[in-house]
Amino acid sequence: MAAQGGAGSSNTNNQEDRSYFGRLTGRYLTTYGPWTREAHAPQTSQQYAEILARSQTTTCARVASLHYQIEKDVSLRQVTGIDSHVFERSWLTADPNDEFLCFHVNFSALVADDKQISFFFAELVGTNCPQVVTGCFRLRSSLDYSVKNCRFCTGLWHPVGGNFLGHVAPARLPGLRIR
Ligand SMILES: [Zn+2]
Repeated sequence: MAAQGGAGSSNTNNQEDRSYFGRLTGRYLTTYGPWTREAHAPQTSQQYAEILARSQTTTCARVASLHYQIEKDVSLRQVTGIDSHVFERSWLTADPNDEFLCFHVNFSALVADDKQISFFFAELVGTNCPQVVTGCFRLRSSLDYSVKNCRFCTGLWHPVGGNFLGHVAPARLPGLRIR
């Protein structure tokens, strides 16, 4: 009988995939225990609100908004976290002893007596949670921000002018004149 190379290759790949999946889930279960809906999903709207209040995005937005209010001497109301991302700063510094995490966050707020909502980007660093704000910027128009100029985040608005870790200049495409 002729060997069926395609099917054999497929089986080998499936076995490898299952082995990798097994190692991955084994490591997760060792660390976090078996997943149960009761342990991981909020059962009431109050539990959901409590979890949301402790979330990375909400914490970053709260700390960054306090920083902005002091730095700019202006009040912010209705501060609402939108999204955030965290990465290890050592990925940039290549220093194995650099234990800082770097957080990027977008949040919205009403500035002073404004009726229209404003959007913000902030960068925070800390050793195991967001502790120090290294920059907080109000994004005033769509020309101020980009979702394509950070090496680590997807879908977060970052200042076009940079001044944050992981900033990358927009790719220069053939025939495209950068002004
Ligand atoms: Zn980013």
